[in-house]
Amino acid sequence: MKTIGHFIGGKHVEGTSGRFADVYNPATGEVQAKVALASQAELAAAVANAAAAQPVWAAQNPQKRARVMMKFVDLLNRDMDKLADKLSSEHGKTFVDAKGDVQRGLEVIEFCIGAPHLLKGEFTDGAGPGIDMYSMRQPLGVVAGITPFNFPAMIPLWKLGPALVAGNAMILKPSERDPSVPLMLAELLQEAGLPDGVLNVVNGDKEAVDAILDNPTIQAVGFVGSTPIAHYIYHRAAETGKRAQCFGGAKNHMIIMPDADMDQAADALVGAGFGAAGERCMAISVAVPVGDETADRLIEKLVPRVEALKVGPYTAGDDVDFGPVVTKAAKENILRLINSGVEQGAKLVVDNRNFSLQGYEDGFFVGPHLFDHVTKDMDIYKTEIFGPVLSTIRAKTYEEAIGLAMDHEYGNGTAIFTRDGDTARDFASRINIGMVGINVPIPVPLAYHTFGGWKKSGFGDLNQHGPDAFKFYTRTKTVTARWPSGIKEGAEFSIPTMK
Ligand code: NAD
Repeated sequence: MKTIGHFIGGKHVEGTSGRFADVYNPATGEVQAKVALASQAELAAAVANAAAAQPVWAAQNPQKRARVMMKFVDLLNRDMDKLADKLSSEHGKTFVDAKGDVQRGLEVIEFCIGAPHLLKGEFTDGAGPGIDMYSMRQPLGVVAGITPFNFPAMIPLWKLGPALVAGNAMILKPSERDPSVPLMLAELLQEAGLPDGVLNVVNGDKEAVDAILDNPTIQAVGFVGSTPIAHYIYHRAAETGKRAQCFGGAKNHMIIMPDADMDQAADALVGAGFGAAGERCMAISVAVPVGDETADRLIEKLVPRVEALKVGPYTAGDDVDFGPVVTKAAKENILRLINSGVEQGAKLVVDNRNFSLQGYEDGFFVGPHLFDHVTKDMDIYKTEIFGPVLSTIRAKTYEEAIGLAMDHEYGNGTAIFTRDGDTARDFASRINIGMVGINVPIPVPLAYHTFGGWKKSGFGDLNQHGPDAFKFYTRTKTVTARWPSGIKEGAEFSIPTMK
């Protein structure tokens, strides 16, 4: 059986804890490798490597660090297919979707090439007589990134790009479910010229995460994953005085107004609801048509589209719309929630509970499901299902529809489909959700904007990528310098003010 270790100090190293987790091929259900789960001691060794490498890296001028990112972009493009193939084999998403996963991370690395500009400080010439004031952005030192299974290339790249180019060293703790791509990224960065020890990839589970949280050298933690773990990490990181941004789960609503183009809305819902088997934090999992007539028209358009979806292994290429979910436990949890929806009175208008794929009976495939007449009190509405399940909750009015999205505990993404500019503007302005689409179902901001949810979808300050990432991975030092023609007055005892 293949084993997957860590990448520490510029080398692949085997795990020494004796603990391993299974890495599946979700399409067949077979275990394809065992990944080492780091102990506290292994984590401490990686941090020591990072701490030794960081000052030398930080002392390089930002342009030189940016050039490593430039080369890294070339290498990511060169190895795109290789990365996407490995990603699909461990995650299960289609090959084209896996390329999108790498691509959306790569775009953040492209943004990081602008580090010299982004790291420029501020300067006030003549803040007082003979006084200049300037602020510098300095790296934090050693920082950590802890990432989820559903974007094993994109989210590690979102974390490591800004952190490294700003002059930090990083411990990346990727998901133990699909650990190979982050290790490949570390190899490519080394090839691009990143000094050894600046990026260390440590595989592991709760033990490694807790070791990160307890480690006094680590200054900041960027986390992405489920809300309970995001909350736990935010809490523990704050307790030990670390800077933390922890992004959590989601339940994204799409409101369909009576004036929307119903074909466009139905196509958007099918792509956003079922793409990547619904395992996206920006997936639309709730459709909210406004008015019964709109709902009837929407369901009529949705049913044939959902029934026509093709589910299969990534090796089937373009014949497949989405692949399996990540584990057997995930599949069982999704089916349990679907059954709870039926028991609690929702109407399952597309029912694939008996779905099985010939030749892949042991794979973690879940067929597409569509619910109508879902209500607020049902578990399928309250919980993040993270599977190919779209729930329709009918609202009588626009106010009721926006109220549903506003009252939900999650606040990652949302969308409205309408032809009316006034409604769209009102929605964008009032909604208490971090990322909003207007006739765009998955409004993932591009690399030079920032990504982040509100409410229980995000704990801590500042968003991911864009200018916020540079603020998160640096701290400001402000210098007040006085160069008077001569210091004649002697000591000053009152607080200085800029008169
Ligand atoms: P997860 O919370 O199970 O795992 C995320 C990370 O935390 C992994 O590295 C894992 O090893 C670690 N972890 C798991 N359990 C832990 C514990 N008890 N203590 C300490 N660390 C632990 O999440 P997942 O299943 O890998 O990813 C799916 C979740 O991530 C979904 O809820 C999804 O919405 C969310 N997500 C959010 C965003 C966002 O930007 N808001 C983006 C992608 C995914």
